[in-house]
Amino acid sequence: MLTLDFHPTGRHFLQIPGPSPVPDRILRAMSLPTIDHRGPEFGALGRKVLADIQKIFQTRHPVAIYPASGTGAWEAALTNVLSPGDRVVMYETGHFASLWHKMASRLGVQTEFLALPGSEHAVPASWRRGVQADLIEQRLTADTQHQIKAVCVVHNETSTGVTSDIAAVRRVIDAAKHPALLMVDTISGLASADYRHDEWGVDVAVSGSQKGLMLPPGMSFNALSPKAIAASKTAKLPKAFWAWDEIIEMNQGGYWPYTPNTNLLYGLSEACDMLLGQGLDAVFARHQRWGEGVRAAVRAWGLEIQCADPAVYSPVLTGVIMPEGVDADAVRKLIYERFDCSLGTGLGKVKGRMFRIGHLGDCNDLTLMAALSGCEMGLKLSGVRLSGSGVLAAMEYFAGQPMAAPSQLAQ
Ligand SMILES: *Cc1c(COP(=O)(O)O)cnc(C)c1O
Repeated sequence: MLTLDFHPTGRHFLQIPGPSPVPDRILRAMSLPTIDHRGPEFGALGRKVLADIQKIFQTRHPVAIYPASGTGAWEAALTNVLSPGDRVVMYETGHFASLWHKMASRLGVQTEFLALPGSEHAVPASWRRGVQADLIEQRLTADTQHQIKAVCVVHNETSTGVTSDIAAVRRVIDAAKHPALLMVDTISGLASADYRHDEWGVDVAVSGSQKGLMLPPGMSFNALSPKAIAASKTAKLPKAFWAWDEIIEMNQGGYWPYTPNTNLLYGLSEACDMLLGQGLDAVFARHQRWGEGVRAAVRAWGLEIQCADPAVYSPVLTGVIMPEGVDADAVRKLIYERFDCSLGTGLGKVKGRMFRIGHLGDCNDLTLMAALSGCEMGLKLSGVRLSGSGVLAAMEYFAGQPMAAPSQLAQ
């Protein structure tokens, strides 16, 4: 029986890597009355959030906002710029890259899915490292007829806790003198991990509300480039609701061609005030620091971090591989039932092999310490042999590494 009347004391620890905990300030902003989406007040709100979200993406070009989950914005990205039978190169970094790949195939695009061969601890090698740009370069250099229309990569692979060097992917596309569009899923990267749309030469970026933006689920984004907008004028995949042209036109006045999710836009406005008020550099540094503290705990436990390349550790979440024979989902279930803390499940090819600790959204050193305590107690209760206390290691890290003052972060 569903027990929605069950009311534990204190707050639930929502440590999954999205939806992330929503700050009270944002929840309060969202409780304002829903207004006329064609009225003058709404236009002012629309123009403000559209200008703010450009700053978050670090772009001067249009950003389309959809009342949809991130998956909708994936479809929007593909259908706006591609035609049936077009060839696209995608890269398998994990489960989300695999889902985007599946979607592209379902839409009638010819996909090539690049990956590193091999596996370790029954985890595919490609799921432990970021995009190897040289594999993309080889593929593009061989495509002398320029049949490949787009290269699609995930910036922060939420299923593994691994980031990818997007600027490096841009460099190899340019080095190969290839006209393919660069499309990036930064659904969980945006507003937590450094993302620079214009500087990195990304043509279409996809993001969502419920990860780094600290909002509830239900809103998603496409950040565009002039080249992507030009491609959308001739692309032939069917698109109507997702079509950028009408959205961009109506957005001039701060309106949408359909009813936008007004209360989530209030929340977005508040989230942008918080993020831009703190400064993006400070936001990125704070997530790096949390990631390092959580990894200090995992190392002290003697467990393995899913990301095998320290250069691309995710500042958003950490994947923890379980010793052989331990069911990661059984550990998660115990921690949920005993300590009211949700951890991310292993998705797709790593189901049962690992769990994920989110360090994004409304969190701080002490909420992370509490989550790590829940993990440590749960691991011990599950019979996992730990080589030391991760909680002590994380406390030492956090106490010894004060958060940098905003003045020290100014570029
Ligand atoms: C969450 C997520 C998605 C899926 O977004 P939904 O909002 O669940 O549709 C896709 N890609 C990445 C990298 C994600 O983190």
